[in-house]
Amino acid sequence: MNVDYLIIGGGISGRLLQLELMDRGHTAIVYDKWNNNQSTHVAAGLVNPVVGKYFTVGWRSDQYFPSLASYYLGLETKLKARFFSSKPMKRIIANAGEQNRWLSKAHLEKYSSFCSFSHEDIVGLNTSFGVLNIYLAGEMDTKSFLYACNKSLPTEPALFDYSILDSNQKKYQNFSYDKIVFCEGYEAINNPFFNDYLKIIPTKGEIIEIRANGIPTDSIYLGPVFIQSLDNDLWRVGSTYEQNQTSLEPTLMMKEELESRLKKLITVPYELVNHYCGIRPASPDRKPVLGVHPQINSMYIVNGMGSKAVSMAPLLVQEMADYMEQGIPLPLEVDLKRFC
Ligand SMILES: Cc1cc2nc3c(=O)[nH]c(=O)nc-3n(C[C@H](O)[C@H](O)[C@H](O)COP(=O)(O)OP(=O)(O)OC[C@H]3O[C@@H](n4cnc5c(N)ncnc54)[C@H](O)[C@@H]3O)c2cc1C
Repeated sequence: MNVDYLIIGGGISGRLLQLELMDRGHTAIVYDKWNNNQSTHVAAGLVNPVVGKYFTVGWRSDQYFPSLASYYLGLETKLKARFFSSKPMKRIIANAGEQNRWLSKAHLEKYSSFCSFSHEDIVGLNTSFGVLNIYLAGEMDTKSFLYACNKSLPTEPALFDYSILDSNQKKYQNFSYDKIVFCEGYEAINNPFFNDYLKIIPTKGEIIEIRANGIPTDSIYLGPVFIQSLDNDLWRVGSTYEQNQTSLEPTLMMKEELESRLKKLITVPYELVNHYCGIRPASPDRKPVLGVHPQINSMYIVNGMGSKAVSMAPLLVQEMADYMEQGIPLPLEVDLKRFC
């Protein structure tokens, strides 16, 4: 069978790229071995333009965020599934120091389209130092997205074996292809073709789910942890960051860490109901990694989405398709060339 694109890895990177290429009239098939711990499968799917201790408006936020809701709505129509919602996000200011940090920046123009500060009481949460209301936020139900892709898009549900790829003849088993794109998430650390160039840092993240009554479910809350309403009184709480960790087992230590941070944010009792983990594909400079293999010009990579795949991948796969199709250069910050 002849295909234009063979894509290895059916997480959000591989699937969004496949959708983009098919939209441009190409044939594209995804190889995916399906794994419940894959990063996309366990991700909270949050979309948040104001991040970190210093209230950073993230890199390229003005390009990533404004069009996300309409982009995902288009995909929902195409895949006949629901998986994205715009949702208010409230960052609960933790203490006087954090409040001062925010107030010293509040006047800056760049924040006006992304957030505003208010004093408000929210049942079940400790809001004595104020709340930052973040705009253009939302959440993706990443599992529903993956299931919809598996159902509707060309897929080979199998492990891709690097040792039998014939990259000269551009053949893999019964497929011949024009281009091959690797999107294996953190498992790219096992990719023998990119071993010498790609520096993916597997970054383990753990999540707990709790039952807690009374907290209003109309917003996502951020503090020492995020809490995200799943269903009535069920909440997802996360997450941790541990670099160079590839164990797919959640740990008691990280559960305790999450619970200790949770208790600083919520004021109501809760019951722990679930605990799991996944491995993010991060990079040394925290930027995605896209590009062509330095020696094999039909071989590409899309990786390094870190903790922001839902926000960044839609634009990046469009840029990747422009690059593969028309040779339009990738932004230097994401180009694999920076590591070669
Ligand atoms: C706890 C946690 C919370 C997160 N929260 C958020 C969040 O709120 N917002 C956000 O935007 N991001 C979040 N992320 C990050 C996000 O999940 C990742 O950036 C994103 O999922 C990476 O997608 P990917 O497609 O590159 O990789 P993956 O999702 O890891 O997909 C790679 C796929 O390739 C397959 N594969 C690998 N090797 C092979 C092979 N040889 N043959 C066949 N298949 C193969 C794997 O099975 C997998 O299905 C979170 C991650 C974690 C772990």
